[in-house]
Amino acid sequence: MADITANDIKFLPGVGPQRAKWLGDELHIHTLNDLLYYFPYKHIDRTRLYYIHELTADMPYVQIRGQILSFETEGEGRKLRLVAHFTDGRGVVDLVWFQGIKYVTGHYKLHRDYIVFGRPTAFNGRINIPHPDIDPADELSLSTMGLQPYYHTTEKMKRNGLNSRLLEHFTSTLFKRLEQPVEETLPDCLVRELNLMPLDEALRKIHYPSTAEELSRATFRLKFEELFYVQLNILRYMRDRQQKCRGLVFSRVGDTFMRFYTHYLPFSLTGAQKRVIREIRRDTGSGRQMNRLLQGDVGSGKTLVALMSMLIALDNGYQACIMAPTEILAEQHLHTFRNFLKDMAVRVELLTGSVKGKRREAVLEGVRSGAVQILVGTHAVLEDTVDFLALGLVVIDEQHRFGVAQRARLWVKNVSPPHVLVMTATPIPRTLAMTLYGDLDVSVIDELPPGRKPIQTLHQFDNRRETLYQGIRRQIGEGRQVYVVYPLIQESEKMDIKNLEDGYEQLCRVFPDYRISKVHGKMKPAEKDAEMQRFVSGETQILVATTVIEVGVNVPNASVMVIENAERFGLAQLHQLRGRVGRGADQSYCILVTKYQLSADTRKRIQIMTETNDGFEIAEADLKLRGPGDLEGTQQSGVAFDLRLANLARDGQVLQLARHTAQRILDKDPQKCLPEYAVLWRRLQALRKTNVNWSVIS
Ligand code: ADP
Ligand code: MG
Repeated sequence: MADITANDIKFLPGVGPQRAKWLGDELHIHTLNDLLYYFPYKHIDRTRLYYIHELTADMPYVQIRGQILSFETEGEGRKLRLVAHFTDGRGVVDLVWFQGIKYVTGHYKLHRDYIVFGRPTAFNGRINIPHPDIDPADELSLSTMGLQPYYHTTEKMKRNGLNSRLLEHFTSTLFKRLEQPVEETLPDCLVRELNLMPLDEALRKIHYPSTAEELSRATFRLKFEELFYVQLNILRYMRDRQQKCRGLVFSRVGDTFMRFYTHYLPFSLTGAQKRVIREIRRDTGSGRQMNRLLQGDVGSGKTLVALMSMLIALDNGYQACIMAPTEILAEQHLHTFRNFLKDMAVRVELLTGSVKGKRREAVLEGVRSGAVQILVGTHAVLEDTVDFLALGLVVIDEQHRFGVAQRARLWVKNVSPPHVLVMTATPIPRTLAMTLYGDLDVSVIDELPPGRKPIQTLHQFDNRRETLYQGIRRQIGEGRQVYVVYPLIQESEKMDIKNLEDGYEQLCRVFPDYRISKVHGKMKPAEKDAEMQRFVSGETQILVATTVIEVGVNVPNASVMVIENAERFGLAQLHQLRGRVGRGADQSYCILVTKYQLSADTRKRIQIMTETNDGFEIAEADLKLRGPGDLEGTQQSGVAFDLRLANLARDGQVLQLARHTAQRILDKDPQKCLPEYAVLWRRLQALRKTNVNWSVIS
């Protein structure tokens, strides 16, 4: 049985080598199978004809039938346009072209029956249809056309005549030439049980449905399959790992932990912190390797939870390490830990790229001998030269900066893999967490330490700076400090740095009495750290910075966060930045400064920010506004989404069903040997081979 779907696209009649190259380069369509899976982005109902007198300018697309009465050119030079007066016997409408005039007049005849398809617009109070599609009426049979597919193509392709219409021609040719049905990729019993459309039918109907209902059933089947295999992959991986690895057992809570808890902890834990520590104790004591994702809003006290978990590891004879995404943050952790632990006999050391020479040797030796109990660092701790005597727990701070692949490298740091606690302040919506981190258990700190006042967020147009300056002056007068943050995007880096420099100079002029720090990514690390340190120590009152401060800097005395060009930040980023203030007991403020003209999306983002401080609400809104492929954090981790159809923001229910079904099948067939599921395991293997992103997800 020859499967022709693997054939090169160039052999499809009408394609040929040149168009095949376009299809490959622009749309990644290389084989017939790729074309099958290149789904239309919309369909238009071609069964309905309108009368010309029914047309209004707010109709998206219409179809009329009639004849061209006459052609006429209007205007001149570059404004030249061609008008065809078109009638259906009851009314007249103008068809208009601004380009391709010669082609149109040479191609279409007067007094012949045509079907005209296009988008009516109003011009000078009259309805006309610019650049319509025109087909001879005797060549189209509308009743069988049903819903017509529309395919995205690129500008480049369109300029070369490769438009949606041509793609439609290719797909319809392909379906005509497929002699055998496309082979089913889900077990028959599952297709029956869930009343899914078989694959062959679903593929045909997603391109060429005859009704909206057919289209939605076809879409459902394909979405389900997509999510199902992702879930099956993750869950299978999770089980395998649980079976293979025995976890280190932290059987006791010992002296170090208890001494810290009773004598050194400067405040009482929040209920949420206590609950999470209990969850971690249960995991690490169970004999199962812990993989836990700890989500908690900025300032919710994750660092302390990390420290106390590490103390449990120490009490059981193990070392612990924590990885931060930046050197500044690693250093801050080091100081925080040393401060918390004071004179307790716990050796905490730092390992980053800047720790060099003798100092580095000493740290590495201490890690090897076990003398260093807690190692704080950047991903330098992943290097092969870092050789722990007995690593029991790894904490990863701000997970989204670490690829999942790096997480996997930790496994080899020990005979038995260490327990892993991943901390993130980016609240990941549930649907996304299930897909991305399906193999992690999730804990949530949903409570801030007591006494924090909610941050007040205000929106300010950038032509009204006086009020802003007054506010800053008042706060600094009360002894507080202020952040002023500018966006930094690689493509416009030069301009961004200039904006920051201009802003800095302006602030220096407006506040000659204050000391102002300036930090951006182009500075040398040492210089940057020094400036940062000046602000942390309170020597400077204002810190002007690009987003380098985004993650983790802790200056409880800072009470104002001014975000310049706030329209250029995403919601998650705005929320992260805002979390830099509000860490003390006093009222803090976040001021979003934007230009006056804003898009609807931006207005929505700003409105959400001013209305809520709840990170989860913001993350959900973000997912809805931007779609998951775009979500900050997932981009940074390099987890590209290869979902064609399913949309994690909208298809939560399909995802639930997919996960539930995958779980059920794994329960029923743990050995992967039941014949009715054979197709699944084969397919999963094939997918894992072809699709790199899958290995990233697991
Ligand atoms: P996160 O890492 O979650 O953003 P941090 O751990 O940096 O938050 O905590 C923010 C601040 O709150 C720190 O100054 C920390 O010492 C303090 N903090 C943490 N837990 C508590 C608590 N239970 N009560 C009071 N303050 C706390
Ligand atoms: Mg933190």
